[in-house]
Amino acid sequence: MIDLHSHTDRSDGTFTPSELVAEAVRVGLTTLAITDHDTFAGYDAAVPYATEKRLDLICGIELSTRYQGTSVHLLGYFPAAPPSENLRTWLEWMLEMRRDRNIRLIAKLQSLGVDITLSEVEKVGRTLTGRPHFAQVLVAKGYATDIQNAFDKYLDESARGFVQRQEATMEEALERILESGGVPSLAHPVRVAKNNWNKLASWVEDLAGLGMRAIEVYHSDHSPENVSFYASLAERFNLGITGGSDFHGANKPSIALGTGKDNNLFVPDSVAENLRELAARH
Ligand code: AMP
Ligand code: FE
Ligand code: FE
Ligand code: ZN
Repeated sequence: MIDLHSHTDRSDGTFTPSELVAEAVRVGLTTLAITDHDTFAGYDAAVPYATEKRLDLICGIELSTRYQGTSVHLLGYFPAAPPSENLRTWLEWMLEMRRDRNIRLIAKLQSLGVDITLSEVEKVGRTLTGRPHFAQVLVAKGYATDIQNAFDKYLDESARGFVQRQEATMEEALERILESGGVPSLAHPVRVAKNNWNKLASWVEDLAGLGMRAIEVYHSDHSPENVSFYASLAERFNLGITGGSDFHGANKPSIALGTGKDNNLFVPDSVAENLRELAARH
């Protein structure tokens, strides 16, 4: 069993890198990819534990990009060699943009009468403080009933507190991953175009033209119908296949590492082998 999509507490998961490796071994994974949002810190920290436990650990990342006016998640995999310093430097810049947004977001929320400080949210989010951490603090302080309510009231793109963050374009993110030897894969396409299959097909065709190399066919949010449709898109546009649970620990408690929601996930071992081949064919 393998799982190519997981998060540690270095982004928005709750498992430390060593806990995630231990969980992978416990559930019987042979290969695990760590795909934290915007950072390799979780992967870097997990390497010695994976070596000790003889778990095959693949370096990955998940980036939020702008594409056709919406936010689209992009996975990048580096199964052959670690990503270049260039890419790490670029991620540092993204972290700075995020911090800049967080400062403006705090000011905006304060102007709306919310009693909240940057250090409060950074205590929760640490290296990668994002809107989910703001939501946690808003709930804890009684400004929202739950995380979703905090987004609806304050943090969603359509809500009063929203401030824009400088996000990479899909084109730039693809280029950065490719130039540092990675394999870019379209993350959870079910979120890209809910049930509009024609629109998704045309986007996937365009993305393949821009350098996309794979599509995430297996995911905890995908129905069997989704899986077969995305597999057909992979074949049609000559893309590789990736898949994983999108494990976030206690932040998404319904998702289990390796097996997804109520065992709705099974990623064949061949997926990892194909990923290695894709990376070698650069
Ligand atoms: P950030 O990168 O800090 O802007 O936060 C983005 C994250 O916030 C996404 O990856 C989602 O996990 C979460 N998010 C964004 N919009 C919503 C929403 N409307 N409801 C719930 N979670 C959301
Ligand atoms: Fe996440
Ligand atoms: Fe995602
Ligand atoms: Zn994810």
